[in-house]
Amino acid sequence: MAQERVGLYPGTFDPITLGHTDIIWRATRLVDRLVIAVAINRDKGPMFTLEERLAMVAEETEGLGQAHGCVIEVRPFENLLTQLADEVGAGMVIRGLRGVTDLDYEYQMVGMNTRLNPKVETVFLTASHEYQFIAARLVREIARMNGDVSAFVPDRVVKRLRRKLTGGN
Ligand code: ADP
Repeated sequence: MAQERVGLYPGTFDPITLGHTDIIWRATRLVDRLVIAVAINRDKGPMFTLEERLAMVAEETEGLGQAHGCVIEVRPFENLLTQLADEVGAGMVIRGLRGVTDLDYEYQMVGMNTRLNPKVETVFLTASHEYQFIAARLVREIARMNGDVSAFVPDRVVKRLRRKLTGGN
């Protein structure tokens, strides 16, 4: 049997957007197992707790890989991505590219990650045109100002944002 192809898709997912789910769905065509790694914390505190972000990602990706025979796993991560890749047996890291601004940062990351772990390739999937402008940061800003984010995130996430911003759980 050919060796299992494992992909690693890291991010903050604060919250998961339709841009993320599109990349995830497309990535399931490329690998047998896709590990979605939810960053514990980045720079400043995220709007959603790690548990909430893990739950949202798990909910929105359930069964998403079935059509392509891909198993999706969701887990938290805090340490180096290159270490995690070894830990989960991933040969590729998957990233979404929205445009030149993403590219600049990603290019540098790939350079450093390749030095840290040359066995892991980074594979970029360009954003689908209908989701190209979606960024979790903007979704949070719009939601905070009571704007309609239903074109950018799944329905359950719209509800979670509403609950979060009105002081519910
Ligand atoms: P980061 O903080 O690294 O950008 P995110 O959770 O925002 O983490 O995103 C994780 C990955 O998903 C990154 O590779 C990012 O470029 C990609 N991504 C985010 N939004 C979109 C989108 N709308 N279309 C395609 N890729 C996206």
